[in-house]
Amino acid sequence: MIKYSFIIPAYNEEAALPLFYEYAMPVFERLDGEFEVIFVDDGSRDGTRAVIEKLCAADRRVKGVSLSRNFGQQSALLCGLRYAAGQAVVTMDADLQDPPEVALEMVEKWKEGYDVVHARHKKRAKETVFKRLSAALYYRFLKKTTGLDLPLDCGDFKLLGRKAADAVLSLHEHARLLRAEVVWLGFRQTVVEFDRPERAAGKTKYTLKKMMRLAQGGIVPNSRKPLNFPLKAGMVLGVGALAGFIALGVLTALGIGYGGLTAWLFPALALAATILSLNTGLQNLYIAEIYEEVKGRPHFVVQETYNLDERRDGSEARPVPPDEERTE
Ligand code: UDP
Ligand code: MG
Repeated sequence: MIKYSFIIPAYNEEAALPLFYEYAMPVFERLDGEFEVIFVDDGSRDGTRAVIEKLCAADRRVKGVSLSRNFGQQSALLCGLRYAAGQAVVTMDADLQDPPEVALEMVEKWKEGYDVVHARHKKRAKETVFKRLSAALYYRFLKKTTGLDLPLDCGDFKLLGRKAADAVLSLHEHARLLRAEVVWLGFRQTVVEFDRPERAAGKTKYTLKKMMRLAQGGIVPNSRKPLNFPLKAGMVLGVGALAGFIALGVLTALGIGYGGLTAWLFPALALAATILSLNTGLQNLYIAEIYEEVKGRPHFVVQETYNLDERRDGSEARPVPPDEERTE
């Protein structure tokens, strides 16, 4: 039985994949169980597919799936998750920036009983200032808007136990950011740290456009806070309008000159803006609820059941994977 699955999304990685294979396989052989390496060719335009075919032909432990076009790393990872058979599933990059030795450390954490292990970059080798800064700012912003307890400076280098992997697969929303969803799911989570080396070969596959899509894909499904903005703005405008009306009323009552009728235009405009903002805010509340329903995330995720195996509605409680797998 396969105990460990490694999922490697690859977009135009013909130069990196052979290096990955040469370097990572002997490291994975140090594991205490059978493993599989699943390369997901994300619609590459170079020879990636041929490389995967060749590696698969030569080694049964290597598996491959080729997507019909470039769907993006998140989709490639999800595809790999759908095929992965292991009790522990590790997602990592093809360019050896996620060191295989660190994957072994993550496995140790899993054996200790953690269901999710994140890998945090302590240092990033030779990345542009723009990339480092935008990544650092984005994760802090994402953490704030989603209210999720996201471990900072962690990418998609993760280990998911079988239960966590199945739970990720039970989410059906279209916009995906695995690193946020995994945190939303809960379970026992921990972090290991590592220094991120340089790319083994080739160039980064993340264009600015791809980075923006990834960033937006995280915020929209995981946070409704941005939708609250018009309500908050409406309240502030409302207070401003009220204060304006009171001030002008008092000045009028005291017979103090203040510029005549035109002065009333200002609080009147603020009142109109208040009504518009509150209206948008109200609509946003509905949009947020509709989005929640459309996503159809489960109301809860079961970690363990005790003396229970059938639910009243006939659905099966998630089968509890044999925990002895961890220690075997
Ligand atoms: N990747 C992918 N599809 C894409 C872009 C990237 O599968 O559309 C893969 C890529 O081949 C690599 C991983 O995602 O294995 C991370 O990409 P990259 O190393 O270029 O990102 P960086 O490390 O520069 O952030
Ligand atoms: Mg990389």
